[in-house]
Amino acid sequence: MPARNILVINCGSSSIKFALVNEAHSQFPLSGLAERLGGPDAVLHWQRGGERDSLMMPNGDHRSALAQLLPLVQGAAGGKLHGIGHRVVHGGEHFTSASRLDDSALRAIRATAPLAPLHNPANLLGIEAAMKVYPDLPHVAVFDTAFHQTLPEHAFRYALPESLYRQHGVRRYGFHGTSHRFVSHRAAELAGLSIGDSSWLVAHLGNGCSTCAIVNGQSRDTSMGLTPLEGLVMGTRSGDVDPNLHSHLARTLGWSLEQIDTMLNKESGLQGLSGLSNDMRSLEQARDQGHAGATLAIEVFCYRLAKSLAAMSCALPTLDGLIFTGGIGENSPLIRSKTVAHLKLLNLTLDSEANARTIRGIGGPIHAKGHPRVLVVPTNEERQIALDTLALLSA
Ligand code: AMP
Repeated sequence: MPARNILVINCGSSSIKFALVNEAHSQFPLSGLAERLGGPDAVLHWQRGGERDSLMMPNGDHRSALAQLLPLVQGAAGGKLHGIGHRVVHGGEHFTSASRLDDSALRAIRATAPLAPLHNPANLLGIEAAMKVYPDLPHVAVFDTAFHQTLPEHAFRYALPESLYRQHGVRRYGFHGTSHRFVSHRAAELAGLSIGDSSWLVAHLGNGCSTCAIVNGQSRDTSMGLTPLEGLVMGTRSGDVDPNLHSHLARTLGWSLEQIDTMLNKESGLQGLSGLSNDMRSLEQARDQGHAGATLAIEVFCYRLAKSLAAMSCALPTLDGLIFTGGIGENSPLIRSKTVAHLKLLNLTLDSEANARTIRGIGGPIHAKGHPRVLVVPTNEERQIALDTLALLSA
């Protein structure tokens, strides 16, 4: 059977990220981004082989972007396209794995929208548009939350009245599941261990950041909760704050819920602490030049990350390794070394040369000899979504 092709789509409210994944090749034959959809500057960018191109599509929407994409995908697939894998952020408790998109799955995703009011409606917009443009192909949804449905109840429940959980679904769900799953499988391969008989800590550090404890291939705890705001310091998200902060700000400053929401999600994290940028590269440069805000932001980021990893270790029977992934985790020796320096009690120590040279898509071990494994593993969520889609289509 020739290698199969899956188009992976990740829709935001005004954007579509896409990648054509061929099961036999690690490089994507085609990838790109449609952005500013619905506005006068709507544009489609793509990369095929080494070549980049773009097309302005004034006022183009999701459906017209996908229609423009169709001949490009058909050309790059060089034969047959076998299906479409859609990234969906929130699957609630309904979805414990990837799901073929039929009427009942679509209803369930719609019903989950109150838990992810920004993300799920945008994901649905993309799914509905893609089903119209590609009506004859199978469509599969792969959920960020599904991997964490194995959390034990003591890890997923908040200490809140039970009715909030039973009647309104208020519990910890966790996100970045596709990435945590992909890198833990790769780490087990790299270490020569079976994923079904190994225990890992994962730090996914991108614009959004989360930690995860994985035992025998199952998520046992994770730092994000009901929403992706809980847990670590992120690019613009605060991570954990005192739950009384909302009432404090409302009482003392008269702030509205919307103002507080915007502040916590868009103006906090590295951006808020540094007063400079949400981008770790810029902060590292500014720190080198003595910028106090950038220095503080990096210190808080690493300390809070180490604290979260130590907390996650409570869920592990043993530690086969700590995995760094995501744009920061894969590229920043500074953040890795500062974080690991706080974890002496877990006996973690890095080999500073291995740490310094493991950047830009190079994975591998970075721990000092005689200490527990620390691995850098480049994530590939698009590939994992394509593999999940293929597995479901073959079943
Ligand atoms: P992601 O969301 O996974 O693309 O990650 C984005 C984050 O990775 C941003 O904060 C980037 O600044 C950060 N990043 C990318 N390259 C580097 C690098 N060489 N050093 C430090 N941070 C980096």
